[in-house]
Amino acid sequence: MDFSKAKLEAETDRLQLKLSALGWSREACLMIAPLTLQINLLKKEKNAIILAHSYQTPDIIYGVADFTGDSYALSLQASKTSADTIIFAGVRFMAQTAKILNPHKRVFLPSLDAGCSLADGITADDVRMLKRKHPGVPTVCYINTSAEVKAECDVCCTSANAERIIRALPEREIIFVPDAFMAKNLEAKTGKRLISWNATCIVHSGFDRRKIQQLRRFFPSLAVLAHSECPPEVAQEADMVGGTADMEKYVSSSNSESFLLLTECGLSDRLRAEFPSKRFVGSCSLCPYMKRNSLPLILRLLEDEPAKNEISIDADVARRARLCLERMFELSQDG
Ligand code: SF4
Repeated sequence: MDFSKAKLEAETDRLQLKLSALGWSREACLMIAPLTLQINLLKKEKNAIILAHSYQTPDIIYGVADFTGDSYALSLQASKTSADTIIFAGVRFMAQTAKILNPHKRVFLPSLDAGCSLADGITADDVRMLKRKHPGVPTVCYINTSAEVKAECDVCCTSANAERIIRALPEREIIFVPDAFMAKNLEAKTGKRLISWNATCIVHSGFDRRKIQQLRRFFPSLAVLAHSECPPEVAQEADMVGGTADMEKYVSSSNSESFLLLTECGLSDRLRAEFPSKRFVGSCSLCPYMKRNSLPLILRLLEDEPAKNEISIDADVARRARLCLERMFELSQDG
């Protein structure tokens, strides 16, 4: 598809508005302009939307995404859309969640390799084994799980609402899968006993409390924000612990001069672009799964709609997983 020089220049201006804060040159924006123009045209033609997780690269977020946010915000968005097709720029469990909530829509995942160390760390058989071992104990699963695991659980949660959901359940003992660190962090917050699993996030498990202590020496007013998937000793050093949406809220309302975000680089980039006057220090970590998606893959999806990228879930699994998600919307009182 060929675009006029004027159209390409206008698209470059639009991209530069956000991407320049992240160090993108005008030339780099001009290079991706034909891709973003084509993707946005095809989206309209096909009545498709692109949901992008905050950890996606900024060219996807500012170039083609219709909605950006954390798993909770995107699953709400997926449950409300009138589009015929959803392209999920995120990882497999997120696209599955969109499909569970929209059984009659077509849902595509751009990269087949976009997995997740948490979601891949537990199976439905593992959950059935835990339930046999702890009969009568309610089962909560983090949203970073497969459809099959959700289908075995009573209620789902995201990092944005996990604490509220654990508190909302009357029982003192709860099976919480699969994140071992998040379970420990939630135990500290709620005082409940969580029986967990041994999966961890390859990004958040790598943060180290010594790094925080070193940076605090250089930046005395540093605000440290840790994702709830971080190890408990890291969470204990932080000023706030929560999900990506909590981090965004904290940065927007805080008077601190500098921030250390202990999470995936995509969120640090996005907040740098959204709050150019605030200072972000330290290094983030890249999620190799999240970064599998790209503009060329999204364009190919819209052009060819390859069957292998379309999400399909067994009807009975989808029905039971949906109950688990609906219970989350009910208990989190935002749905
Ligand atoms: S950042 Fe961690 S939890 Fe999120 S998709 Fe990557 S591996 Fe999974």
